Amino acid sequence: MHRCVRCVLPETFPGIRFDSEGVCNYCLRALPPEQREARRIKLRERFQDLVEKVQGQGDYECLMSWSGGKDSTYTLALLKEEFGLRVLAFTFDNGFVSPRAFQNMRVVGEALGVDHVIFKARFGLLQRIFRASMSPDFYPLKARERASNICTSCMSLAKGMALRLALDRDIPLMAYGWSPGQVPLPSAIFQLTPPMARSMIQAATAPLRRVAGNEIAPYFPTEEEIMSKHLPCNVSPLAFLVYDEGRVYQRIEALGWEMPGDTDPNSTNCLLNAFANEVHRTQMGYHPYVLELAKLVREGYLSREEALERLSQPKDEGLLNRIRTELGVA
Ligand SMILES: [Zn+2]
Repeated sequence: MHRCVRCVLPETFPGIRFDSEGVCNYCLRALPPEQREARRIKLRERFQDLVEKVQGQGDYECLMSWSGGKDSTYTLALLKEEFGLRVLAFTFDNGFVSPRAFQNMRVVGEALGVDHVIFKARFGLLQRIFRASMSPDFYPLKARERASNICTSCMSLAKGMALRLALDRDIPLMAYGWSPGQVPLPSAIFQLTPPMARSMIQAATAPLRRVAGNEIAPYFPTEEEIMSKHLPCNVSPLAFLVYDEGRVYQRIEALGWEMPGDTDPNSTNCLLNAFANEVHRTQMGYHPYVLELAKLVREGYLSREEALERLSQPKDEGLLNRIRTELGVA
């Protein structure tokens, strides 16, 4: 397969074009490093101001969406230890969290001294949603450039539930552990407004409602809550703080985190990911992590060789079959 010579985007990626030297349009229109760094410095200042502003507000100053994976664990450690925030950690249990990831969360949560809410959605509902998400047209093409349909459904429920919890507990900041490859700089910090919340919830719930109707209502804030509560500011700190995978592992391992042995190379917490990737790759002809990995390569966070290796890991048929059985699609 032909790929961009600078990043790793393949010829099968939607809307891709290459110049005569084999460089893709994403690389050609990327911000120069100096401009990117200037924006990151501004975001760091803005975040520092935000931290000062929320300090002393309410029982918790920040709700951290914590999957137990390496990036969100590292973000949680930074928020607690570097920024001194009173953090409530929130985990959405999708029924496929690696046992090691749960063990990691118990150990790291104690080491950091953070309170932790785990929401376990009923598996029967998740099973129906994940099975329906396998349909190629479940989400628009644009959404499929960034993630597999199964991941998008899971994230919709997790983010909806996190927002509802933040509103419930009046928490002013909501943090995510998105890597610099997963979040564009303009979205790294944003104050949620009622129209934004409404359109995000509308986009997230429309496909899910077709499968599960009103059963998904408890997972999202109501219109009344959006209108009557303080909406939080959303922040993805890894987009503008120093991000180095070696440092990430070093820091979280010092807190007792251990690499799960049962997940695919692009996840350090979720067993469903391998299956979601496989479905996506078969339908779309490209890996659902390729856009993120390409950006990490383009911006110097990851070597091109390392990215290619993560994209070309052989299928773990044993794991895939186990997931098929659990989802009821075997
Ligand atoms: Zn490229």
